[in-house]
Amino acid sequence: MHIIAVGAGPSGLCLALLLGKAGIKTTLLDTGSTIDDRPRAAHYAPSAIRVLRAAGVLEDVRRLGFLPGNMTWRKIDGTPIASIKDTAETRGPEGLTVLPLNLLGKVLLDHAEKNTNITIKWNHNVVGVGQDDTSAWAIVRAEDGTETKYSGDYLSGCDGANSQVRKSLFGESFPGKTWDAQIVATNVYYPLDKLGLDEINNIIHPTDYYMAAKITRDGLWRVSYGEDPNLSHAEVVAHQPAKFARMLPGNPKPEDYKLTNVGPYRIHQRCADKMTVGRITLAADAAHLCNPFGGMGLTGGLVDVGDLADCLVGIDQGLAEPQILEKYCEIRRQKWRDVIDPISSGNFIRVSATDPERAREVDPFLEMVKKMETDAVLRKEFDDSVYDICHDFKQYYKGAQRVTANELKL
Ligand SMILES: Cc1cc2nc3c(=O)[nH]c(=O)nc-3n(C[C@H](O)[C@H](O)[C@H](O)COP(=O)(O)OP(=O)(O)OC[C@H]3O[C@@H](n4cnc5c(N)ncnc54)[C@H](O)[C@@H]3O)c2cc1C
Repeated sequence: MHIIAVGAGPSGLCLALLLGKAGIKTTLLDTGSTIDDRPRAAHYAPSAIRVLRAAGVLEDVRRLGFLPGNMTWRKIDGTPIASIKDTAETRGPEGLTVLPLNLLGKVLLDHAEKNTNITIKWNHNVVGVGQDDTSAWAIVRAEDGTETKYSGDYLSGCDGANSQVRKSLFGESFPGKTWDAQIVATNVYYPLDKLGLDEINNIIHPTDYYMAAKITRDGLWRVSYGEDPNLSHAEVVAHQPAKFARMLPGNPKPEDYKLTNVGPYRIHQRCADKMTVGRITLAADAAHLCNPFGGMGLTGGLVDVGDLADCLVGIDQGLAEPQILEKYCEIRRQKWRDVIDPISSGNFIRVSATDPERAREVDPFLEMVKKMETDAVLRKEFDDSVYDICHDFKQYYKGAQRVTANELKL
């Protein structure tokens, strides 16, 4: 079997590694000249760690990254409201792991470059896709206008939020909403842990809400805060020192910290109408988006590609019918709708639109987190619930005990 994957971002690379382990060849086509190193994801939940392990990269991810300590919700003056208490030991073998996306991308790329089943073609801008009864293809347009067709048995769009694969299938339709907010993701060296913060903090405030988390062992922090959506990029950059002085512990001036990135983003909750159309599938940001509070974007994307790999390997090995890809579409969209969308939306509303003085009274989640500090049974239920976005697609393989006769007849 040969797969065409559009996009050599984290989801495309991870998909190729999972398929490569099963002997399936993947050609990755990417419009960039190398991996995208904008400051985006850094936290990967246990469900994604499981996929990174299956792809054979977890050891390197853990070597470069780390297992963070407590995650705490606070008032802007630092007063804790509720905390998920953790240490490297309690996080366990599949525990939430921190590694900035540019470094995760490098790990995935290093492994992919060593895998003879994977071919990566940079500077390959995909402008359209197509399919017939036996194959699917991407059309790549070079700068001089010449077009080349890359064909495989199946094609997967892993080409991010502005996915050309999705647009080729559905035009501009990407159902959902854009929040009336602008988030500014900054990377900064400023020792917030010495100023009373934990390694992950969510600060609840009507205008100066933010998330502050340590993202490298050498003391780089991600501070993502809300800004007026009407401000231009230049205005956001100009406002940043005043924002930091007002909201961060120690009220720092620019000479007190070293800022390495400022990136404003609009945030969305969107999911494509379908993640499978015949031989073409969508995964990760190409298929769905959520706001970054709670780190569910790439986590959900990695779970997608883990599931997609199980489906394609099943088809390749004669263990599954091609219709299993319809099941992929149904289940992955359902997981976005029932788990990722409500939880990530709740995370954003919690920090940006909750009265910090009454947070535990009005927000049952925070009340539960507070109870979990002393209730081990509740804590165990919470720890188990982080796998709610997972699904076992091997149950639909032929001969699998749990498969029912009509399971794949959608
Ligand atoms: C501020 C911020 C913080 C975040 N924090 C977290 C977090 O902590 N945890 C988490 O899980 N998620 C987080 N996310 C979300 C996460 O970054 C994304 O979900 C993830 O990067 C999506 O990966 P992807 O592979 O789907 O797409 P991308 O990373 O966007 O990769 C897409 C690739 O496709 C290529 N491409 C695009 N168009 C074409 C084309 N036409 N032809 C060929 N190639 C093309 C691009 O060059 C790129 O290499 C965060 C996002 C933001 C903005």
